[in-house]
Amino acid sequence: MENKTNINFRKETLTKLLNAIIIHENEIIQALYDDFKKPAFEAVLTETSYVILELKDTIKNLKRWSKPKRVFPSILNFPSKDYIYKEPYGKVLVIAPWNYPFQLALCPLISAFAAGNQVVVKPSELTPKTSEIIAKIIRKIFDKNHVEVIEGGIEVSQQLLSKRWDYIFFTGSVAVGKIVAKAAAENLTPVTLELGGKNPCIIDETANLKLAAKRIVWGKFINAGQTCIAPDYILVQKDMKSHFVTYLKDEITKAYGANPSLSPDFARIINTKNWQRLVDMIEPDKVIFGGQTDATTCYIAPTLIEETSLESQIMAAEIFGPILPILTYENDAEIDTVISKYEKPLALYLFTENHAFSKKIIQDYSFGGGCINDTVVHFSNKRLPFGGVGHSGIGAYHGSLSFDIFSHKKGIVKKANWLDLPM
Ligand code: NAD
Repeated sequence: MENKTNINFRKETLTKLLNAIIIHENEIIQALYDDFKKPAFEAVLTETSYVILELKDTIKNLKRWSKPKRVFPSILNFPSKDYIYKEPYGKVLVIAPWNYPFQLALCPLISAFAAGNQVVVKPSELTPKTSEIIAKIIRKIFDKNHVEVIEGGIEVSQQLLSKRWDYIFFTGSVAVGKIVAKAAAENLTPVTLELGGKNPCIIDETANLKLAAKRIVWGKFINAGQTCIAPDYILVQKDMKSHFVTYLKDEITKAYGANPSLSPDFARIINTKNWQRLVDMIEPDKVIFGGQTDATTCYIAPTLIEETSLESQIMAAEIFGPILPILTYENDAEIDTVISKYEKPLALYLFTENHAFSKKIIQDYSFGGGCINDTVVHFSNKRLPFGGVGHSGIGAYHGSLSFDIFSHKKGIVKKANWLDLPM
């Protein structure tokens, strides 16, 4: 394939993509708004700027990342020089979800192409305007033998999955992740699965409650709670609950005003089906804040729920919406009962000033990644691997790791001939 392994060609093409995204930024922001009223500020922060930074970082480091890496040789092979060569897998399929539809389609595409692969991207059908602008930009910049966008829904996705790929990168739900893994297994195709889960957020008796409330409101209600790493439920030390809830209410009002439906900073639920799924989770007698809904605009206000049962509908699976159940605990055993009931989550958050407690939680529980005294922000450090574990996903990416996951690492021993030791 023409120039496929030429680093300069890849850098030039990615620079063209960077310029195109900058030129079309307003159109992208508008498409995201049209799809589900994604607020402009969030669209810039979590979609366009994020992709622009990713592109700049990739263009800057591509040469270094792609170089063979020399490693210490084994004494058994003396004398030798040992290297890790990175080679593209070949044909990569990227399947993207709707919640960050631009970023989660573009970032894997950029890394897969940067690593020298041929890429096919299928954006989500639930965000048609964003899918359209992605297709427009990609078709303008890339030769379709290098990168192609195939738009469509489940059927198109299934057709793509029935073909043979050298790597599949999927972001979406656990249920579809299993379908992808099964399809990949047919051809022993390696996969990265970026899935979801029920992310706990623990607040202990030493936490700075006001700051915790501010950071949780940001992480939970950005994108109207439709974020894979949003805190799913709160586990607060029993005596702290009432103060903490007061702070949460204050912070929600500060962020979105007395009537969040009028706020330009609050997104809508993606479609009626998801809106109904979320509304069904709200038990009116448990609502302690918010609870307003509107079917015609797919609106659900930031809502706080007082929850005491793990058997309720809201505690059955990932919420993925602006509803936050608040549970309490009195001791570590009660924390364990709740967290251990669920599959390994994609993220875990802990608000505490107690270092021993944070160390214990990090050691005792398996989860994709997370924060102590914040939410969501671990996503933004490109030096941290991002991905799940168990049912929340397979594999991790971001920064140089993204280049690495799309590269087969070939170990090579270059033996010298000036000495031949008898074995
Ligand atoms: P989804 O699994 O319904 O859809 C994702 C993609 O798969 C879409 O492109 C869709 O067309 C395709 N698809 C849907 N059903 C399919 C089927 N039966 N066969 C083949 N392909 C199919 O997910 P979604 O609703 O778009 O996204 C929400 C989910 O994604 C949440 O669970 C969330 O936690 C997760 N998510 C994870 C991350 C992460 O980085 N780990 C990021 C965003 C979203």
